[in-house]
Order: sequence, then structure tokens, then C-alpha cells
Amino acid sequence: QTKPEKAHKLTPMMEQFLAIKDGVGPEAVLFYRMGDFYELFFDDAVRAAAALDIALTKRGKHLGEPIPMCGVPVHSSEVYLQRLIKKGFRVAVCEQTESPAEAKKRGSKSVVRREVVRLVTPGTLTEDSLLDARGSNMIVAMSRTPAGGHGLAWADVSDGTFKTVSAPAKDVPAQLAALSPRELVLPEALYHDADFMGDLSLDGIALTPQPETKFDVRAGERRLSERFKVGGLDGLGDFSNAEIAAAGALLEYLQLTQAGAPVQLSAPKASKTSGYLAIDPATRASLEIDRTQKGSRSGSLLSVIDRTVTGPGARELSVRLNRPLLDVDDIKARLDAVSFFVEHEDMRRALRGHLRGAGDMARAASRLALGRGGPRDLKTLSETLRLGETINAHFAQSPDIKPPANVERALTGISLAQEPDIAKLARDLGKALLPDVPMLARDGGFVATGWTPEIDKLKTLRDDSRRLIAGLQAEYAKLAEVSTLKIKHNNVLGYFIEVSPKHADTMLSKGPESPFIHKQTLVSGVRFTTVELADLDSQIASAAERVTALELEVFNGFVERVITHVETIRGMAAYLAQLDVQAGWALWAEENRAVRPIVNDGPDFIIKGGRHPVVEDALRKSGAPAFTANDCALSSDANSAARLTLITGPNMAGKSTYLRQNALMFILAQAGGFVPAASAEIGVADRLFSRVGASDDLSKGRSTFMTEMIETAAILNQSTERSFVILDEIGRGTSTFDGLSIAWASVEHLLSVNKSRALFATHYHELTELIDGLDGAENASLRAKEWDGDLVFLHDVRPGAADRSYGVQVAKLAGLPMAAVERARAVLERLESESVNSASAPVGLPLFTAAVTTPPEPSALELALARLDVDALSPRQALDLLYELKVKA
Ligand code: ADP
Repeated sequence: QTKPEKAHKLTPMMEQFLAIKDGVGPEAVLFYRMGDFYELFFDDAVRAAAALDIALTKRGKHLGEPIPMCGVPVHSSEVYLQRLIKKGFRVAVCEQTESPAEAKKRGSKSVVRREVVRLVTPGTLTEDSLLDARGSNMIVAMSRTPAGGHGLAWADVSDGTFKTVSAPAKDVPAQLAALSPRELVLPEALYHDADFMGDLSLDGIALTPQPETKFDVRAGERRLSERFKVGGLDGLGDFSNAEIAAAGALLEYLQLTQAGAPVQLSAPKASKTSGYLAIDPATRASLEIDRTQKGSRSGSLLSVIDRTVTGPGARELSVRLNRPLLDVDDIKARLDAVSFFVEHEDMRRALRGHLRGAGDMARAASRLALGRGGPRDLKTLSETLRLGETINAHFAQSPDIKPPANVERALTGISLAQEPDIAKLARDLGKALLPDVPMLARDGGFVATGWTPEIDKLKTLRDDSRRLIAGLQAEYAKLAEVSTLKIKHNNVLGYFIEVSPKHADTMLSKGPESPFIHKQTLVSGVRFTTVELADLDSQIASAAERVTALELEVFNGFVERVITHVETIRGMAAYLAQLDVQAGWALWAEENRAVRPIVNDGPDFIIKGGRHPVVEDALRKSGAPAFTANDCALSSDANSAARLTLITGPNMAGKSTYLRQNALMFILAQAGGFVPAASAEIGVADRLFSRVGASDDLSKGRSTFMTEMIETAAILNQSTERSFVILDEIGRGTSTFDGLSIAWASVEHLLSVNKSRALFATHYHELTELIDGLDGAENASLRAKEWDGDLVFLHDVRPGAADRSYGVQVAKLAGLPMAAVERARAVLERLESESVNSASAPVGLPLFTAAVTTPPEPSALELALARLDVDALSPRQALDLLYELKVKA
């Protein structure tokens, strides 16, 4: 490993490199700009060359050792950046900030000035090529106050979002999982707190520990007030100290990554934890809301219901599914909008047609504001801003159709009628830009004719000169008596005359009157110029230079105007995204016969004909028989329905599917969308809990059983009367007695202490007898039929316990050798006949014959014993006490 060290004989360039690298630190690799390349040296080169699979070379020596080096061309650097960021690297981009001419003027020996202009980290990307168009790119900062409160601040640099929330420690994992950030900035103390970190799901999140001082509340307050130009933070909203600390640290870190350029975020907004359905990371993962357990987007709930036609729409849908609401009125407002687009198919179709032409306005505006935008970003704004008018005009054609408040607000929000300045900006952009514009402003060639008279004049001059030059070729060919004479152009010489070598002598021997001036002799040809040609050439060159400068001025002028209105533009982008989500959801609802749920604050959850959208979609695609719809009725007050239903049935009968589909009903409904059912009444849930399937969490050193118990503990500790719980096969990872006891106790606890609405799937048939004796609980089962010794799953949920488990049949289906299947059948028959003979209880399970309804109250004797402090008793008192207790017994 080569370590850069200060030594006396450094080249000036190496000296500069080491100084800059020193400032960047070892965490980031340094892209050091040299002409058309970014070069990497020393360890950076070794690591990056391996990660990028590019050649590692050497350049010069340092302390007698060759310096490892690799490089990437500037024009394709984004591709390499993307690969490095994907692999978890951070990259400091160091640019030349003066030209060699300027350096010379300054008297510098030979190195041009260079500065780090940006630190590229997973959470601070803005380029379309580095971003997922349909996913957000969140960075989160997290703080902890001495009192133990936590603050979260999150931002999406690419579209300007900036929000905060406070949360007790137990809610932090759910909050973080809802945001699914790319990068997490946190104080070193938290980073080293293994217990706390162990509860977070940190897959795919880059961790950025920062010194404690960055999370200082005072400093944060100052930083935020300065950046958003307010006297005090009260002006922005009601922030807790923890939120200020987190927001301040986030702002500071972002400033660092932008190398001091102002961070272009909207003013922070505080959001309420209590406003959202809480879903902890384990539940989120098991329900596969926005990605499957394997981490892919396809196969998730989101991917199946997503019908949006724009990137921002897809991101908004993801936000809604990840943070469903609690407020019934807010939910209804969203549902009204979806209903509207279900009822007005023509409006929906027209809207979606227009939205297809929308660009990613929020990201374009943010790039422009950060000084990283180009003419294409202006073009996006130009086209997308004007869409608002088109869409409004369409609605205006049908004045008798009255959209609900939510849609109305969005339509007003995207209308330029209220925003004369932006309307003018959009109009001007429309006039100023050519239909096809380049990526980079410095390439020029994007300003349309008629926008800047001087640009037009210079272009005419340039075109005239070119025409003159074209005329000159024939003239010179005649004069030189060389018919093959050509006038050509390149970037070094400009315009020149070229003849083949065999004609060179004719040209050179023309004598003093000849206008031809020799410039260059190559193997392929000899090159000349003339005074006239040189004049025209310089006219063209200076006109072109001037045009480029003027175009840049036009560009910068527009950028200024965009910055002035960036907040409004972001707002419009958000409204467009919202319309896209609502119209898309309506289309999905129509395609999937989904209905509007009745949402209220009541205790009930009544689903008729419910389906699992993802399983149904998979069955449809594979051409399998249709999904069997199932009802579900639960009520937390146990009046209109049971509070808890125990689900039994053979493996593969559809138990997990049934559990999950009902949990998804809450998410879809509370996100404000239609649900896949014939009808649905849903009393809002405050928390969702799911403990489905056993999976080892070996990365955290927990066994299957331990993971299962930790998750079950969380449910029994946190679930409330308003929560919804699904538990699948709990107690599986241990011995039968242990497992059954734990499952039994969990059912009782849920039913009598938590009082949550719950579905509990189990393979312990003993539990079904328990349920019969419990108030507020019911049995239900998924049926299967034996047909010619084979098993047929009917997938329908019926009241009552399953008669048997059909384990042997499932084993046969799975392909166990016939001999083993026959043997299992024989063993089973013997066991069953023995259990029938030995009275009513199942073999060996005397413990479970007693119908335990509620946990028994402690007796007077037990209470007295519990209160007893043995150490404080004298022998005499002890004896007296014994007599006393004997009486109570
Ligand atoms: P279990 O949890 O009882 O072992 P699953 O819920 O995993 O069973 O379901 C097994 C398979 O059965 C699913 O992958 C799906 O293909 C099919 N399935 C489940 N429920 C239904 C249903 N309601 N209609 C049709 N097929 C279903």
C-alpha cells in the first residue's frame, strides 16, 4: 500500500494534489482534473481502478516509489461516478478553477489553481444519469437529545424537499424505514451505539458519522435562520430541539458536499409522527410494500399498482404507500380524487395523455439552482410549465363536471393564470429555446432566432463569411491552377487551403505576387492560407465566440429567473405528481375491480371479497386459475365481529396470503386509494404489525427463533386497540411445547391486553380448542380437499377450525419419495388412533386440556408473598407470618 507522505522533492503538481487530498480525507476518492481527464493517484487509484475495472498505470515517483494512477475522461465521467457511488464510494470532484493563461499571469510556476467543487455521496446526487427517475433520493440526519428524544431531518437534494420529525427511540426504526434513505448522517455516539443501530434496518444505506458538535442545537438554529433568512425558527414552524439539531447538521453536511455553494432546499417543514400509520421495519419488509424481501422493486405492492406516467408521480405514489395517513378527512379527500378519475374516464385519459409529456420539473429546477443545470433543464421547465395551461383548458371545456376539492386545488396550483411572472418565464423560454437543445450551456447552439438581435446579427455575419469562403475555393483553384485544391477547416488552424504534395511545388513557386502563404507540410497534403481567408476565418471565429458568450448570458439570465421562482415551480411539480398518482390509481382500480373503501375512526374492519393484489397479479400473468376472493371481519370492540381470528389449514393453502392481503388493505386505504375487494369498511389503524414467516437475521447475529421473539415482543409491547396485527406460525423455531405455549400466551395477551384486531395463523391445531373457549376470538380455516389421494387447495376461508393438516399430502406434492410418503401415512394413522383411544386430549399434551380463558388473577396468598421482604424479618416475625399465611391458604 502506497501512502502519500510529505517529502522535500515534490513536483508542484504533486504538492498541490497532496494538499487537496489532505483536505478531503481518506473517506472520499479524489477526482483530480487534468485537462480532459479526472486523474486518481495513490490508494484512490488502486481502489478505483479495481472497482471500475480500468487500467492502473504509474506516473512519476514519490519517495522513490512509482505513483499508482488511473483516470477517467471528463466527458464520460458520470458513468464512472455512477459505478463508484453504487459501490459505496464517495467522490470529491476537484476542478481547474483558472486557465493556464491566468495561472501564468498570476506568476504561478506551472500549476493552475484547483479546488474541490463538490463531494458526491449517495445521498446528494442531482444528475438524471445517477438518479432513479421513479425513486426518491433521500438523505437523513438523525440526532439524539440528552433526554433521549430523537430528531430526524430529511432532504431530497434533487427536488428540494426538506422536512423534520421528532420521535421516541422506539419509533425511530419505523420512521427511518418509511423514508428508506440512501444516506444517513448521525452523531458518532449513535453510530457506535450497537443496540440502537441493531434495531435499524440499514441495508443499502451509506452511513456518515459526524462529530457531536455538528449536532449542536444553537448552531443549528443559527445556520437554519441564516440560510432561510428568518429572524427565528418559529417563523418556519414548530421544531423540537432534536429536530433543529438534526436539520442543522444536515444543512451543514450538505453545504460541505456542495463545497460552500448555497444548498438549494425548500424551507424545512416539521411533520407530526402521529400523522402517519406506523409500520416498523420488519413489518414493512414482510409486506413488501416498495420492494420485495430480496430487494427488487418488481414484485412489490408498489410495482403492481403503479400506473403513473411520470417519474415524479411514481415517487409520490411511493411516498404515499410508505407513509399512509391517519386523519380520516385527509384520507377521504384523497379518495374523492381517485373516485373522480374512476367516474370520469375521459378526463382521466386526457390528463394522463398530457402528463406523458411532462418532464421532471422539480429535479430540473434544483439542478439549475445548484449551477449544474443545462439547456435541457430549461427546456423541461418550458414544456412542463405550459402543461398546466393545457390541462386546465381541458377541464374548462366541461364546466358541468365539478372536480372534488383535492383535484380543484391541484388544477389551480398548476395554472399559470395566478402566477404572471412564471407565465412570462414559460412564454419566454418557449420563444428563446430551439426545439433541440444541447446538454451543456457552454456548447452553445440553443438560442432560437429572433430572441437576441445581436446573436442573430452575428450568426448572419458568420453564415455570410462561410458562403464567401465556399466561393473562394473555386477562385483559388483557378489562380493556383490546381483543380483539386480544397478549403478545409479544423480547430487548430481554422480555415486553410490544402493541396496534395505533388502540387505543392506549383503553389510554392508562384513568386512574390502569389497570395498563398505556406502554413504546414504534412505527408497527406500541404496547407496554405491567404490574407483574405485569414480575415474571414477570424471574423467567423470571433463571431462564434461572441455568440457562445451571448448564449451563456441568455442561459444565466433564465437561471436567475428560475431561482427566483424555484419554490413555486416545485409546488407546481408536486401538484402534477399528485394528479398523476390519482389518475393512475383510478386506472388500476378499474383494471382490477378495486373499490373505494369506507374509512372511519370506528373499531371495524369488514372486507367482502378481498384479494391480494400482488399474488393475484402473479397468478394472472402465469395463467393460473383465478385468485379466490375472501372475506374478513374483525372488530376491536368485539361487538360486530371477533377481535381475533385464528387461521388454520394445510401448508400452501393460502394462510400467509390471506394475512398479508388484509394488512395491505389498511395500507392502500389509508394511503388514500381504492382497495382490491368487493366492499371494504376500514376503521383506521394507528400501527401495523406483521410477524410473518421465519427468517434468520444472521447479519445481526440473531437466530430465527430470537428474531421471531424480538418481533413478537415488540408487537405485544406496542400494539394498541387501534392497531392491526398479523402473526404467522409463531413459536415455530423451538420445541413443540415451548412453541405452543408461546403462541398460546401471545393469543391471550393480544386478545385481552392489547385488544388489537388480529389474524393469527398457526399449525398448532391445539390452539383451535383454546379459541372456542375465548370471548372475542374465532376460528377460521383454509380448506383443501383430498381427491384421488391428492390434495386440492380451494383457497377459501371458512368459519371453524381445519379438520386436519394434510402434512403428508403436501409432502407428497413436494416430491418426497413414494416409500417415505407411504411410511409417513402409516405412522400418522397409528398416532391418530392412539390419540383417539386415550380420551379427548391429544397425546402428551395434558397442559392444554384446561380451557384457560384469561390469565389467572394472583391469589391473596401469592400477593402477600410477593410483598414480603424476607431480609427484614426477625425469626420470631417469620414464624408469626407462617401461621398467618396458613390461615389464608
Ligand atoms: P400458506 O401460508 O398456507 O402455506 P401461502 O399463503 O403461502 O400458503 O399460499 C401458497 C400459494 O397458494 C400462493 O403462493 C398462491 O399461489 C396460492 N394462493 C394463496 N391464496 C390464494 C387464493 N386466495 N387464491 C388463489 N391462489 C392462492
